Amino acid sequence: MTAAPDLVIVGGGVAGLTAALAAAARGMRVTVIDQSRSGAASRASAGMLAPSIAGLPDTLRPLALEARDTFPGFLASLRDRTDMEVPLDRNGILELAASEADLEQRAGRAGHNAERLDRQALGALEPALASHPGAILHREDGAVDPLRLMAALDVAVARQARITRLTDEVASFDARGNLPAFRSRGGTRYASRRLLLAGGAWAGALPGLPRAIPVRPVRGQLVRLEGLPVRHVVHMTDGYLIPRAGMLIVGATSEETGYDAGTTPRGLATLRAIATRAVPVLGHAPLAEHWAGLRPITPDGLPILGLDPTVRSLAYACGYSRNGILLAPWAAERLAVVLAGGSPAPALAPFAVERFSSPTT
Ligand SMILES: Cc1cc2nc3c(=O)[nH]c(=O)nc-3n(C[C@H](O)[C@H](O)[C@H](O)COP(=O)(O)OP(=O)(O)OC[C@H]3O[C@@H](n4cnc5c(N)ncnc54)[C@H](O)[C@@H]3O)c2cc1C
Repeated sequence: MTAAPDLVIVGGGVAGLTAALAAAARGMRVTVIDQSRSGAASRASAGMLAPSIAGLPDTLRPLALEARDTFPGFLASLRDRTDMEVPLDRNGILELAASEADLEQRAGRAGHNAERLDRQALGALEPALASHPGAILHREDGAVDPLRLMAALDVAVARQARITRLTDEVASFDARGNLPAFRSRGGTRYASRRLLLAGGAWAGALPGLPRAIPVRPVRGQLVRLEGLPVRHVVHMTDGYLIPRAGMLIVGATSEETGYDAGTTPRGLATLRAIATRAVPVLGHAPLAEHWAGLRPITPDGLPILGLDPTVRSLAYACGYSRNGILLAPWAAERLAVVLAGGSPAPALAPFAVERFSSPTT
């Protein structure tokens, strides 16, 4: 009989894989179970690292800034383990203003590293945006290509001897017996003294959990257009443009359509309108690709991280909402300490599951 691993994780997105690597680095033997569901967020994501404009509460902004600033070190450690370079765009993000009054308001809210660009300065930096009243340049924000990031995480996990990766569907959480377990659809019991729920938009739908996990899917559609009229990531109130690998990504819709992860003519028309309002020539740019993903959204837009307060063998790394690419590597390091039996970092306190729910059992 093989010994149970030290940690079983449900979910092979950015949350599950970063947690697996961080736990394995602390000597834990980890099993990751994933079913590759259609609409999984990490590979569908836009990949912006945008703590300055993410709409996070002021108290949490410093943590998100820290997550952004530790990203280069995280990518460097991935490169050391995989020989894969994940490009990081740190040219800054332009937050486009709708009017001069709006520009002043945004400038008043912006952090000390931000630069206010009036119409002329914006046109000089990005000629395709010359017709706009201005923008705030958030110098340190940027973006990472989530497909390249996930590919590197896949390789890092494959090369880590302490991690076993399985393809299976987990159907329930089962707290009975000597060791609690995730139980598969086929009846396999994946038992361990530590279990981590990193199931993205599906995290709240797993039967048997000791409490309600308020994570719901919110669909985001994106398109890739041919052409590259801007060099910076451009953020508007209704969407964004991301120059990447010689093309332009336009995102994203925000739709309460359950677990439907398809794109729609209406969604694509919305994205075309967003792009055209920002840069009129994009009205004619050929459509290269379209896709959608399901954001794992919580009521306050913040992730759920840490141990369950009643079933201490169960931990959560879910509900990353709109900032999972940004936050997951940072959170994984802190979660791994807890999973290995250490005390939780104070930085994790705002993300505790208790802020939402009472136990169901
Ligand atoms: C359109 C869009 C744009 C986004 N843009 C950004 C952005 O610019 N910046 C940013 O930081 N974040 C962004 N996000 C958010 C970010 O992508 C997510 O917060 C993050 O990827 C969530 O990662 P995850 O691992 O929790 O979930 P996922 O990537 O969805 O992974 C969950 C995995 O769990 C598996 N799973 C679930 N339940 C089970 C089960 N019962 N059995 C087996 N397997 C299971 C699924 O198959 C899936 O592979 C965006 C998301 C979307 C959709």
